Amino acid sequence: MSVMQRYQHRDLVGLRVGRVNLGINTSFIVYRLGDTIIDSGPSNQWKYVKPFIESRPLEQLLLTHHHEDHSGNAGAIHQLTGIQPNAPALTIDILKRGFKIPPMQRFIWGRCGLADAQPLSDDIRIGTEKTKALFTPGHAKDMTCYLMEDRGWLFSADLYIANYLKLLRSDESIPLLLDSIRFTLSHDFDTILCPHRGIVENGQQKLGEKYDYLTNLAEQAQTLNAQGLGLKEMTTRLLGKEGAMGVLSRYNFSKRNLVASCLDVDLKQHQV
Ligand SMILES: [Zn+2]
Repeated sequence: MSVMQRYQHRDLVGLRVGRVNLGINTSFIVYRLGDTIIDSGPSNQWKYVKPFIESRPLEQLLLTHHHEDHSGNAGAIHQLTGIQPNAPALTIDILKRGFKIPPMQRFIWGRCGLADAQPLSDDIRIGTEKTKALFTPGHAKDMTCYLMEDRGWLFSADLYIANYLKLLRSDESIPLLLDSIRFTLSHDFDTILCPHRGIVENGQQKLGEKYDYLTNLAEQAQTLNAQGLGLKEMTTRLLGKEGAMGVLSRYNFSKRNLVASCLDVDLKQHQV
């Protein structure tokens, strides 16, 4: 069964798609603002994304990062419309050569789609409106958010998703993520357009809550670590037992990864 839900927020439209209906982490919203699409959705949902793309002329496809739920249809959209995707430099390289997807993610999103993307312009516009690319690594090394300062809108890629985190992929970094959240919070915006959570009002405050949550978690983890506790025990104390996702993914997406990465946070740089 596929998830299908439509969103409308002023002149923004969104289409939520997904093979597995288990909430926001297994479904994805493709956003369109005017003649621009932000992220392409997962390849196994192409039959739903295609008519959404075809429903009006496309001028621009902006990608935030290479992950398969964001970039999976970029090559297919290029082929369908002739519009070459624009992506951060690191994303371009990854989408050219392809990348491995763990079995669980491949089941949820499908294969990675290869794409021939081009660099972001120095003067990004959505319609006529100035749009800033904010390089925000941590969740992925190539991740970039798009900020429309005049509207106070942030296309947040996977920077936000929720004001807390319980699981971390093994290739994610909490120290980098905290730097990226702080950098993003230094800009003005109030609405987050999250491709998983949806439209989030009071976005500054919500993203600030995630920052506070993670710095607090890092402080607690480092305190337990100083007391000599092992990773498994620290994880159980701070986040509870490892759930089905952690075990099924062979700890690739797990609570213990989150705690381990919290140990690398330099707390002097982040006020708790
Ligand atoms: Zn991602």
